[in-house]
Amino acid sequence: MNNLENPKQRRWLIISLISTIIVLLGTIIYFTKTENLSGVKNILAKADSSASHSISEEESNFPGISIVSDISNDELSPYALQYPKTTNDEFNQHVMNYINDSKDSYLKVIKYMKDNSNSDSLINELNITFETYQFDENYYSFVFTKRQSLHNAETETKMKTILFNSVTEEIVPIQHVLSNDIRNLETFLTYIRSVLSENEDLASKTDKAKIKDFLVTDWETVTNFAIDKENLVVYFDEGTIAPKDSGTISLNISMSFLNPILATEFQKEMIDQSENIQVIDDKRKRVALTFDDGPHPTVTKQILSHLDKYDAKATFFMLGNRIQYYPEVAVEVRNRGHEIGNHTWSHPVLPKLSMDKIMYEFNSTEEMIETTLGQKSSVFRPPYGAITDAIEAAIPRKSVNWTVDTMDWKYRNASQPITAIKKQIHNNAVILMHDIHQSTADGLPAVLEFLSNEGYEFVTVSELIPFIK
Ligand code: ZN
Repeated sequence: MNNLENPKQRRWLIISLISTIIVLLGTIIYFTKTENLSGVKNILAKADSSASHSISEEESNFPGISIVSDISNDELSPYALQYPKTTNDEFNQHVMNYINDSKDSYLKVIKYMKDNSNSDSLINELNITFETYQFDENYYSFVFTKRQSLHNAETETKMKTILFNSVTEEIVPIQHVLSNDIRNLETFLTYIRSVLSENEDLASKTDKAKIKDFLVTDWETVTNFAIDKENLVVYFDEGTIAPKDSGTISLNISMSFLNPILATEFQKEMIDQSENIQVIDDKRKRVALTFDDGPHPTVTKQILSHLDKYDAKATFFMLGNRIQYYPEVAVEVRNRGHEIGNHTWSHPVLPKLSMDKIMYEFNSTEEMIETTLGQKSSVFRPPYGAITDAIEAAIPRKSVNWTVDTMDWKYRNASQPITAIKKQIHNNAVILMHDIHQSTADGLPAVLEFLSNEGYEFVTVSELIPFIK
């Protein structure tokens, strides 16, 4: 039986509820009316400021690196700064300079504002956080994000990064990563420019004129970057290549893509540690020529006849929507004994899609391949080489990118593929070309001639897979 059904108890409950409300109301009225309110506030502020500043240090998951937290609850100039501390004095000094400079300039502006106006009530904030990325046991990247808001203004975000070699105890600039070769920087920036213009999302966020002015071939252009096992991430502060309120623009570039322009220690370690192509000591010299984004009604056919002259087998990563238009070309590729790869239906940046859409991109293309060719694809290549571990796990084919990008999609002249290949060729290379550009078909005979003179055998991507770890 429910107690509240007893009328006596119910009345008692109502009375006690009403009296509680009256007491609460009285308390609120007392505190709002009291003249002492500002006094109370002052005492609180005083108590606050005596305990307002604290610095603490704690262990991190990375051996030899601790995390320092410097926090001030000062009413006018609060801040929270987090930074790493290692056993290396030079590194610590470098970090402290950055932290102290940030703090000093923040406090100076606030003091100036306070001295020159009655802006006590304005809200200021300074916040520095950092993240740590590990490339291997030697190299750590620290990525600092500084958010500052002064005078109630919009929060301004600025990045700072440090690449640290914990063995030599040196802070490593981008020059070192790119082999101290300005041509490598130019390749790197060319790639960034192309991603910024070809990726719809990035193209809409960024500013073409700013990109042109900012991305000049100068080592100072790339100050903020980080490296983990798979990617090099480059950061551009708001206002540099995009409007002021756009936030930081960051780009992930796969280390395997950058492999040809990296300093050897980054190449070697990448091969040792990650699941990239491993060069096996074998007397046979092989390359896999790959052609993406087709089939194309005229270019693909020309490519097929050039390949035949050298009895070369290649791999064609086809788009579902192009097989739909040119099924007879796809059949011709298969009939001449080349390998068929799945390159999605519509060439999207997969990591930006939901898993459902990603699987649809793969499966619809797979169905198109099966109905057109009566067979399945044997390998997969994600558009732009963009893939995550989760996508790789979900797609039921081996995903294979490339080790040599001929940049034939960008520089549409017949000498481009051979020039790029001569610079980057290595055993077991996977060479990226596109069978949708006339210039690629025109440039292919020189490529075939050069590689066969060098003693390379032309194999399919699947034949190279045993040499891909
Ligand atoms: Zn493609």
